[in-house]
Amino acid sequence: MLLVVKPRPFSASAFIATLATALVFVSACHEPLAVPRVEPSLDGWTQPYQGVQGLKIHAFRTGAVRGIEAAAFAGGSWTTRMAMGAWAFVIEHPTQGLIVFDTGLGDRARTEPEHFVGWIGAKLAVLDVPEHATLGEQMKSAGLDPGDVHLVVLSHLHFDHTGDIGAFPNATVAVAAAEKNWAEAGVRRIDFVDADALIGMSRWQPINYETEKPLATFVASHDFFGDGSVIGLDLAGHTPGNQGLLVRAAEAPVLLAGDAAWTEKSWRWTARPISAWDMSRWWEQIWRINKFAMLEPRLIVVPGHDDLAVASIGIASFVHH
Ligand SMILES: [Zn+2]
Repeated sequence: MLLVVKPRPFSASAFIATLATALVFVSACHEPLAVPRVEPSLDGWTQPYQGVQGLKIHAFRTGAVRGIEAAAFAGGSWTTRMAMGAWAFVIEHPTQGLIVFDTGLGDRARTEPEHFVGWIGAKLAVLDVPEHATLGEQMKSAGLDPGDVHLVVLSHLHFDHTGDIGAFPNATVAVAAAEKNWAEAGVRRIDFVDADALIGMSRWQPINYETEKPLATFVASHDFFGDGSVIGLDLAGHTPGNQGLLVRAAEAPVLLAGDAAWTEKSWRWTARPISAWDMSRWWEQIWRINKFAMLEPRLIVVPGHDDLAVASIGIASFVHH
């Protein structure tokens, strides 16, 4: 199934105007959001926990997006710049082979940063991408062949998650149907979707969460292999179809959250970021994650851009590279 992404015309002045408007809007809207009602349910989540022996999750840092702390989470400093690692993960599944979750920043983010963040963003070095840091290259160095990957799950279509999608020509690419529809309806530079990376991808698996079953505190889930080992979760809000991946590692369940949570503070402190496609939905998903963690204390949540949170994961099934 071909994804046809329609880029819209865009100018640098429009980008600056939009950014300035967003900053003014966000700083003016500090009313607390009401805590949503989330049923404390573990329906569909088998207890006691049983992990999949032999399953590994490999974590690769493909570079970083440099942002202001307060933009990442409410309560952070407005003067502290932080590097937000662009993480990509490879699940080495004992029966299903290699599965990629997000592909991180690609080489073009290093050689042509203005394509992604404009002239000003490039001058401000918003993107920090070392050489030979692409997911494909790092996998090869780690003895994992990108050609063996038959499924890439994308949390969402922002460019810092799709950058090395071209390294997986044999893979079907699974995205939430809502995300795919959003991109196909037409994206602008301010949407941070890199149309170039997606045009030409022919094997898409859109997941329609509107027809999928709830799981525990989550509204909808998609069991990729029918055995509960790798489950997609509807975590829309950051973008129209952000999804997470709940993986049954041997020691503990691991939730790769994508950008539903940029940092650990996002979900543990329910601290809002500067922007989201739909802040109310973002907020609701954060509480769903938060409540699931209360009910399933072994849960390890891996935010999309938190180096410290990733570094602190200490189970043997989670392999740091
Ligand atoms: Zn991101």
